[in-house]
Amino acid sequence: MDKTKRKAIIAGNWKMNKTPNEAKELLNAITPLVKDADCEVVACVPYVDLSVALEVVKGTNVKIGAENCHWEKSGAYTGEISTGMLTEMGVEYVVLGHSERRQYFGETDETVNKRTKAALAAGLKPIVCVGELLWERECDITEEVIARQIKLDLFDVSAEDVKKTVIAYEPVWAIGTGKTATADQAEEVCAFIRATLAKLYDKETADAVTIQYGGSMNDGNADELLSKADVDGGLIGGASLVAEKFAAIVKAAGK
Ligand code: PEP
Repeated sequence: MDKTKRKAIIAGNWKMNKTPNEAKELLNAITPLVKDADCEVVACVPYVDLSVALEVVKGTNVKIGAENCHWEKSGAYTGEISTGMLTEMGVEYVVLGHSERRQYFGETDETVNKRTKAALAAGLKPIVCVGELLWERECDITEEVIARQIKLDLFDVSAEDVKKTVIAYEPVWAIGTGKTATADQAEEVCAFIRATLAKLYDKETADAVTIQYGGSMNDGNADELLSKADVDGGLIGGASLVAEKFAAIVKAAGK
């Protein structure tokens, strides 16, 4: 595998953390620390922080993402946010199918697929999250689970569009638990995702897709995880809320 074919992307997923004032403070701390980054740097923030976040990163190399979007353009969907609302603001990325959305808010592969297609149609770059539960790993069906998610989440997405899509491999047992997959486990599944993409599309397309690892990645383990051939970056939860830790991961991605 040739990593130079792909852009490394380090994206923070802030989840339900940081008020607008706190977001301003955190991004003001992050931007100078990552200004020489040799990778794409993204902060995916709560909807109410988007406006201030976009203002703070103006003129910097940090891009802003949302944490979800709806598939309809507008209508009676109380509490939802459309792709057009995000693009008009200048948002570039959107996290979709995060395991917390799947676990707590009834997200399914079908709705992840609808959101992914809507995001791509609007010009947003989706970060589509896939990953197995602990008992699925213990039952030795990790590859089955991942292949199913990839096939369903990307159903009807063209090769051209899949190249604009980021896949985040996030073993559910490693998210927010402090338990990280070993670098070999992360590589094994990221390589499997790429092989699955090659079967669904072709090798050239699969080689162009950025595949991140996510799950308790931090400044202590990022070097090893990011050194793996098929791990093109990270989706970072907890460590993205501490400027120095996030910046250290960004630095590791540039090595
Ligand atoms: C995440 O929210 O996508 C994530 C990987 O969280 P954490 O880094 O805290 O495990």
